[in-house]
Amino acid sequence: MMEDEPERAKRWEGGYERTWEVLQEDESGSLKASVEEILFQSKRERVLKSCAQVRLGMMRHLYVVIDCSRSMEDQDLKPTRLTATLKLMEAFVAEYFEQNPISQVGIIITKNKRAEKLTDLAGNPKKHILALKKAVDTVCGGEPSLFNSLSLALQTLKHMPGHTSREILIILSSLTTCDPANIYEMIQSLKSVKVRVSVIGLSAEVRVCTMLTRETGGSYHVILDENHFKDLLLMLHVKPPPASSSSECSLIRMGFPQHTSCSLTDKDAKPSFSMAVLDGSSDPALSLGGYFCPQCHGNYMELPVECKVCGLTLVSAPHLARAFHHLFPLHAFLESAAAENGFCHSCQGPLKDRSMLTCPTCHNIFCMDCDDFIHDSLHCCPSCL
Ligand SMILES: [Zn+2]
Ligand SMILES: [Zn+2]
Ligand SMILES: [Zn+2]
Repeated sequence: MMEDEPERAKRWEGGYERTWEVLQEDESGSLKASVEEILFQSKRERVLKSCAQVRLGMMRHLYVVIDCSRSMEDQDLKPTRLTATLKLMEAFVAEYFEQNPISQVGIIITKNKRAEKLTDLAGNPKKHILALKKAVDTVCGGEPSLFNSLSLALQTLKHMPGHTSREILIILSSLTTCDPANIYEMIQSLKSVKVRVSVIGLSAEVRVCTMLTRETGGSYHVILDENHFKDLLLMLHVKPPPASSSSECSLIRMGFPQHTSCSLTDKDAKPSFSMAVLDGSSDPALSLGGYFCPQCHGNYMELPVECKVCGLTLVSAPHLARAFHHLFPLHAFLESAAAENGFCHSCQGPLKDRSMLTCPTCHNIFCMDCDDFIHDSLHCCPSCL
């Protein structure tokens, strides 16, 4: 056993104490204003945090482990924990590739004391989403195995190049795990190859997960409700994590193929198979156009993809541009009390009675909703442009 548990290990205990102090009724006895204030503060915290300049692991290799044990049949998430999780995972996969276009993801499920791969590490969202749709019919059963899932993910992750970020995200519903060997040794081997393990708990905090995430530098959250689950998965885990200071730096060769298409009447039109057929992520069909790898002239229907023949990463410039905003996040707007009769520069709506946010560069004033949109989706100040 490992000792030296930090004092604030059970975050929720402290959280509840503070909730009672913070929550205050207004004249009409309503808690609405108080609750809104708490939500606002948590959003501000997120914006301020994302503005810190840190080195990020932009090329991610992530395995998501989904618990499919009997406890996933619980109906506290509607209709069941499993269905709700799989639905959110579909959104997660889409959002993950939107924000991390040069990364890969793989899915592992664990039940009946075993772990098996649902999909291998790959950069094609369609394949994962299809597998997740099929997994809805999975029969939940038995106990999950943390050890087997971690060791299955580790087998692949340890071979990933040193400049990429190696990650495992576990969605754990069960409060027990069935491990064939000592899990603390597994934690040490994960740590030694710099795999970061994060856990989202659907039931309650489990000590072994606290240890696992603390030792490997990941995060551990237990969901409060479905919305919290969604926020954690779609906001927190979609963002690239800070790179550990010891990770290698490396230049990566990339190809930027142009889409070419020609018609059958062209004299030198040569139909070709898409190379994506090789790993079964596309149906074998002859086509005349596509993206051609600049190195080996392999044909692909979609980008981004890693060339199956020569291993070159093929992307388009907009993909890289989308990943770019993580490196230079938009500065947090300054908060101040709203002036009388003020209007939001963006939506032209009247500023609500509480606070307004000022862009430090152009000094224009925005409302809270616009601030959310600017920092979460737009990633640039519309009036600075
Ligand atoms: Zn190639
Ligand atoms: Zn506005
Ligand atoms: Zn501005």
